[in-house]
Amino acid sequence: MGMSYRRYLSGNRIYGCSGCKTHLATIHTMISRVRSLSYPSTPPRLPPGRSAHGFYPCRHSTASTGRAYLFDTVVNVVEGEPSDRQMTTGNHTVRDIYCVKCETVLGWKYDYAYEASQKYKEGKYILERNLLVDVQ
Ligand SMILES: [Zn+2]
Repeated sequence: MGMSYRRYLSGNRIYGCSGCKTHLATIHTMISRVRSLSYPSTPPRLPPGRSAHGFYPCRHSTASTGRAYLFDTVVNVVEGEPSDRQMTTGNHTVRDIYCVKCETVLGWKYDYAYEASQKYKEGKYILERNLLVDVQ
């Protein structure tokens, strides 16, 4: 894949991938904590050449807690293809985001928000809390 290049963050609090501890974001780029997160109703589309093994169990476990963080900047992720999803906050065009190292699905990026009140999310990233670990 040639995707081994990874960035390393510094700061008081760094969030990493729960699977491989790759740095993803810091508390400084966190915009808000999202409660009662509506889960995308459509199953994630797998990128070409990737198997579903180890993919759906994560999805199920995150759906039970529904806690996630909204970040302005996230590093070391691969963005999937855009798709429209209906959430409790309205319809959004989102992309799944994957850990660049272990390919765990970590959340999604908002490409476009149809509701005016949700426009601030465009270009921002959702990371699911139970897929993150604190890295120091
Ligand atoms: Zn990872």
